[in-house]
Amino acid sequence: MAYEIDETHDVNLESWVESANDPETDFPIQNLPLCTIILNEDEESIETSVGVAIGDFVLDLNHVRSTEIITDEEADEWSFFTVEDILVDESWSTIRRRLAALLSIENRSLQDHPERDDILIPRDKARLGHPLYTPNYTDFYASVHHATNVGSMFRPDNPLLPNYKWIPVGYHGRASSIVASGTEIRRPLGQRAPAEDGGAPTFGPCKLLDYELEIGAIVGRGNALGEPVSIDDAEDHILGLCLLNDWSARDLQKWEYQPLGPFLAKSFASTVSPYIVTMGALAPFRAQRAERAPDDPHPLDHLDSAHDRDRGAIDITVEAYLLTEDMSKRGLSPHRLSRGSFKDMYWTLGQMLAHHTSNGCNLHPGDLLGSGTISGPTRASRGCLLELTWDGDPWADPPIKAPGTHRTPIELPSGEKRLFLEDGDEVILKAWCEREGYRRIGFGECRGKVVSAPTP
Ligand code: MN
Repeated sequence: MAYEIDETHDVNLESWVESANDPETDFPIQNLPLCTIILNEDEESIETSVGVAIGDFVLDLNHVRSTEIITDEEADEWSFFTVEDILVDESWSTIRRRLAALLSIENRSLQDHPERDDILIPRDKARLGHPLYTPNYTDFYASVHHATNVGSMFRPDNPLLPNYKWIPVGYHGRASSIVASGTEIRRPLGQRAPAEDGGAPTFGPCKLLDYELEIGAIVGRGNALGEPVSIDDAEDHILGLCLLNDWSARDLQKWEYQPLGPFLAKSFASTVSPYIVTMGALAPFRAQRAERAPDDPHPLDHLDSAHDRDRGAIDITVEAYLLTEDMSKRGLSPHRLSRGSFKDMYWTLGQMLAHHTSNGCNLHPGDLLGSGTISGPTRASRGCLLELTWDGDPWADPPIKAPGTHRTPIELPSGEKRLFLEDGDEVILKAWCEREGYRRIGFGECRGKVVSAPTP
């Protein structure tokens, strides 16, 4: 398999970019996530470059290429101009090793270069866009804890449907409304269920606006129509991971979701973080696939492999924070809503990708595969407000099956309370990986602030 641990993960590797050696940084030399820098933009055109985050800076790779540092022999590997080009060329692991060498403390070629201060852009001055064009977006439902909690609210006697433990359940999302981190989220309008059976629904601003804390996988190499990707090859088709907020209008969702699944409750916006942490950088943080309960079925052969069992999961700590307008005005820090781990997911990314293509469906370079809300077994690890403010606990013995309407608000340091999101609320997602003997690497932030709905 690709993505082995190599010299780029050496914990002793230090960079001449001093902020990259800060133990708290998300972007040490061992990470080197990809991003898209917006250099110039006017009404007619946009000029971008491929960037790599290092400490408090972003390295402009197109600018590096224009210098004599990149030799004629390397020109083939450095023939990209956008992140999309890298996806297709598959030259990233070579470039990653070259960048680790260029940025390492003893290397002088870039460190002493006369154009260095133009090549290395301070991260707080760099405009980062959506990292790449997303042709298609699929969202899964891979946390059994999330699926059981949500199922318990709507079907107390039958929370998990019989297919859940056999297939990674998913739906086709909307690619056109994927937005870059920092983009304001307009509260959607929509239909809500009638107050009583047989009555008419109402139309207006969503009242139960929620976020979903997810990891997104970016497809690198695609597959041809009609040619499934085996689980053994599945990870070779993933370039890297980002943070994803799958904003959800719960009242719209409840009314529209049967029988064909989510539609307008999800398609008004999904936010992705600016950085793609590549699968190469994640190699030290691979983990055993989450253990299934003794009574659970074994996955069918096309969704199972020794690699997937031994290293299919990834140990990523994920967190969601809330910052209200009042908290912001008073200088209060964002309030942590939850902390969970991506390694607790019932299905791995390899299983999701193998399942997605098992019918011959073709994935395109740049496609986004959302993991589904990342919720763990405890209340503190629930990845959305729908679960966090709900009083039930299907994992208790015997299960506490509270109806979906029975909720306890979250109390914020400002004294405010929240069941769902209000206008002016900003949701901030974060994630990082840590393991003894390796450098901590992070995903940066995925931010979005809710603004008021249009007039109906
Ligand atoms: Mn979702």
